[in-house]
Amino acid sequence: MAQCTPLILRLVASTVAAANRAGKIIRDIMTVGDLGIVEKAKNDFQTEADRSAQRCIIASLSRQYPAVTIIGEEGPSTSCEVPSDWVVTCNDTNTLGLTCPESLLDVQEKDIVIWIDPLDGTSEYTKGLVEHVTVLVGIAVRGEPVAGVIHQPYGPPAGTGRTVWGIIGAGIGGITPHSPPKDRLVVTTTRSHSNKIVEDALNALKPDEVLKVGGAGHKVLLLIEGKANAYVFASAGCKKWDICGPEAVLTALGGTLTDMNGKRYKYDADVQYNNTGGVLATAPGEDHSYFVKKIPEHVKFLIYLEHAIRKLLSYF
Ligand code: AMP
Ligand code: MG
Ligand code: MG
Repeated sequence: MAQCTPLILRLVASTVAAANRAGKIIRDIMTVGDLGIVEKAKNDFQTEADRSAQRCIIASLSRQYPAVTIIGEEGPSTSCEVPSDWVVTCNDTNTLGLTCPESLLDVQEKDIVIWIDPLDGTSEYTKGLVEHVTVLVGIAVRGEPVAGVIHQPYGPPAGTGRTVWGIIGAGIGGITPHSPPKDRLVVTTTRSHSNKIVEDALNALKPDEVLKVGGAGHKVLLLIEGKANAYVFASAGCKKWDICGPEAVLTALGGTLTDMNGKRYKYDADVQYNNTGGVLATAPGEDHSYFVKKIPEHVKFLIYLEHAIRKLLSYF
């Protein structure tokens, strides 16, 4: 690949290829059926597919971009020893010919933090609800999300899945966007991590329909495909690797992702992993501030309080 192609475009091309490979690993492990499930914390699972997919993506990206900082959900990969066919150094060509936004032309590897969720929707994966599963990679430059990849291993289409990418200022690909519903309010939220605060936020919006599905990546795809107007999750359980890639893809299309107060998250390497203000994302064309105003003050306050109490209890 020509080195004169801007770094961000090369990195997105490499990430698409690595995410596709990780998706095949996820399918292969499910086919064999030995998932090796570990409960990392209450209602927070990891499988052999999460571990292997992360090793594949980190090995592939770190060998090509050694000075980039990579943070993966499944912890530091102490060993990048992986089967040789897991290391993908070829690239997807679709993004290489794009015009790079001027603000990203001079980006260097040391400016970049990559956030990896190798398998978003693990709870659903273990239950066979594989259409909720995504592989998420977010690329942040000096704390700002600039590009993202969302790979759906189980499609559509079945067999190879599909890979959606977005670069803010350059566009998105791999999906056909549709406008959200106009005459009714459809909100998507968690399937497996609800609580009273999450429900209070939903009730305040008085939606016509609530789509309870797994995974942050899957929910953002519903916004892009016009199946929901907003993604509302009034809990601090979701982390930076869940939203960096989806935020970049959604923003590249004109949507918005913030906390419940309308504040954008930062993605520097040293930030708090938990999204302590919850997640509020709206489809392109929606008035994001309308949703922020509708969320009750007690909800905004209790998200922080619940997280603080959980953290405190974990010391005892
Ligand atoms: P969900 O919408 O419940 O599928 O959550 C989206 C992402 O946030 C998934 O990766 C979940 O594992 C993660 N998440 C949300 N809430 C929690 C929680 N209470 N504990 C651990 N992970 C969570
Ligand atoms: Mg996740
Ligand atoms: Mg995960």
